[in-house]
Order: sequence, then structure tokens, then C-alpha cells
Amino acid sequence: MNFDDMIKIADNLVNPRILTSTCEVASVGCVLLTDKGNLYTGIDLDMACGIGFCAEHSAVAQMILNNETRINKIVAVGKKHRVIPPCGRCRELLYQIDNNNLETEILVNENEVKILKDILPFQWK
Ligand SMILES: [Zn+2]
Repeated sequence: MNFDDMIKIADNLVNPRILTSTCEVASVGCVLLTDKGNLYTGIDLDMACGIGFCAEHSAVAQMILNNETRINKIVAVGKKHRVIPPCGRCRELLYQIDNNNLETEILVNENEVKILKDILPFQWK
């Protein structure tokens, strides 16, 4: 599975909907590929008071539900088909669920792949 195929899958997950005055969902879609070759997907929940979560979080939760933790590749796509890099919290999340994910390939824009350890410098532990 290459990043172009993963972008298409993530883009198809994007379906922004306003559920309440403080809650918008599915503005971002995320697809990750594990070392076992499985794909997991997720969407974001954007809510007031910081109680939502990123699309990466829901994709990771689905992966862990299936007893996997090692991610080979991950991509997130937002509105207007834009590839977006993971936020700092998600970078930390990917690392903490499996330290080997420091080698995860992350598509940070349409044309650039970074390794997690290169965009998560100066680890706190
Ligand atoms: Zn995030």
C-alpha cells in the first residue's frame, strides 16, 4: 500500500458534519498501515473544552482493538483534500503506544515523508 492509495482512503473519510454548536466531526480522516499489513482508519471529533480527539487517535484505538501497535505508515487528510501532519500530541501518542514507531513513515504534506523520530525531537524520557 503506497501513500497515494492511503490518501484516497483518508480523503473518503472526510465528511464534516456539525452535530451541535460545539461539536464538528469528520473534518479529518486518518489511515495507518501496520507492520502486519493491516489498515485502520479514524476520524476526528472537534469539540469545545478540549474533549475531542484527532483522527489519528481513533485510528490508533481501532488498531489497538485488534492487538496491534506497530505502524509502518500513517497519513491524515483534512478539508479540501489537504494532507496534514500529526499534531504534537499525536506524535507523542504514536511513540508511547510502541517505541518502535519512531521509525514510522509519516506523510507530512502531499510530497514529503518524514520519520517520526525526526519530527519528535528531544524526547522527555
Ligand atoms: Zn493530533
